[in-house]
Amino acid sequence: MKRLETDILIVGTGPGGATLARELAGRGREVAVLEKGRWHRMTLGRYASVGTITRIVIPRESFGFMARGISVGGSTVVFTGNAYDPPRWMQDDLGIDLSGYVRATREEIGVKPLPQEYFDRWPGTRTLIEAAGEIGLTIRPQDKYINPDLCDPDCDDCMIGCRRGAKWTARDYAADAVQRGARLYDRTTAKKLIIENGAVKGVTVRGPHGFREVRAEKTVLAAGGMGTPVILIKSGLKGAGTGFFIDPMNVLWGLSRYSGSVRGQTFAAASEDFIDSDEFMIGTLGALFLKHWAMLGLLRGYPYGRVIGMFAKLGDDPGGRIDGRGRIFKPYTKEDKRRFKKGTDTCREIMIRAGVVPGTILVLPNVGGHPGGTAAIGRVVDRGLKAYEVDNLYVCDASVFPRSPGRPPSLTIIALAKRLAESI
Ligand SMILES: Cc1cc2nc3c(=O)[nH]c(=O)nc-3n(C[C@H](O)[C@H](O)[C@H](O)COP(=O)(O)OP(=O)(O)OC[C@H]3O[C@@H](n4cnc5c(N)ncnc54)[C@H](O)[C@@H]3O)c2cc1C
Repeated sequence: MKRLETDILIVGTGPGGATLARELAGRGREVAVLEKGRWHRMTLGRYASVGTITRIVIPRESFGFMARGISVGGSTVVFTGNAYDPPRWMQDDLGIDLSGYVRATREEIGVKPLPQEYFDRWPGTRTLIEAAGEIGLTIRPQDKYINPDLCDPDCDDCMIGCRRGAKWTARDYAADAVQRGARLYDRTTAKKLIIENGAVKGVTVRGPHGFREVRAEKTVLAAGGMGTPVILIKSGLKGAGTGFFIDPMNVLWGLSRYSGSVRGQTFAAASEDFIDSDEFMIGTLGALFLKHWAMLGLLRGYPYGRVIGMFAKLGDDPGGRIDGRGRIFKPYTKEDKRRFKKGTDTCREIMIRAGVVPGTILVLPNVGGHPGGTAAIGRVVDRGLKAYEVDNLYVCDASVFPRSPGRPPSLTIIALAKRLAESI
């Protein structure tokens, strides 16, 4: 059996894996990285990257969808590029201070809100912001990993891949890692941990590069909230797979009497008024896929230019689980449902004040995009992200959150990876 050998093995190239690979390679460490998805060489964007998204229907008790990126860069390839500081409990409850790493990352990537002209030019977005103000809520521009000099204000394709290179993705860090000497193998799936005498010695793999196992001094799983627990469960580690949250989002669309928000950008503006009290966010939607459906002639006769959209995104209870086959079980608690309804009703109220005809409002329910909690700090790994049960194993992705951060988590994951790079 042909095998690959390395000092550090990293599985997955989302913000956790790609950041860690970049940092360690930059320190001269020998790093090999495995990624199940492809490194799409063609220009991303438009329809090219749609194939990187998998959608999984959650069992009937809580119907919904999961979106994630299976690609070099992980879900950041299809994320909206919003950056949020870690939740306060990271420091208060876990004693993990990420402030220095967060500051460095913000500077390195150039995180900032989109310029005011992005909000002023579309009357639909403007009316939503004004209508929220009338009921005492502040919808304001959000910090983005987007370079406005390269971005097109008429485009809302972040979630099918940025074709202009305006949006930072973890693929940028993966490319830096390779440039600094890391070896990256795409289309290569880590199947199981190799465990000998209580210590992890690498993983078995499936892929086209001719080796069936990778041997390493240290192994880091960064396969995401849905990928990492599958490897851990298959390898017989206890505690993995439970504590699952997904941050479900209800998407609302309605027809305005005036002008739509479809030419705005999704999640460019949002309200953080409920983030601490009820752990949900609400915000504005752009065209999403409507523009593309219209281009394909699927919306003939539907005045999609007058569509106004909002979303309510919940930090849900970590009461779900994922099994060794990657199947999801995600019931919502009574409290989840109450908070989600409050968020959705608030969006509806703002939309109607902004001129949306009430009978035209449609709700696309439970679209989850931030899976995590499945190898949590305190249950599977310690505060240094090292596994309790075996030696030489670490986890560095959204799985380690003991509960939902209640806001998009990538900046926290990047900061955790930078912190781990100093100790591993
Ligand atoms: C539509 C959408 C919009 C989002 N918007 C935002 C946003 O604006 N801001 C924000 O902060 N977050 C956003 N997120 C969430 C964010 O992208 C994720 O939380 C983040 O990418 C998770 O990082 P990660 O390192 O845990 O794993 P991931 O990004 O999921 O990366 C894991 C990688 O591991 C690979 N992998 C899985 N299993 C294996 C295996 N067995 N072997 C090898 N490789 C494997 C996967 O292919 C993937 O590339 C969004 C997500 C989605 C889907």
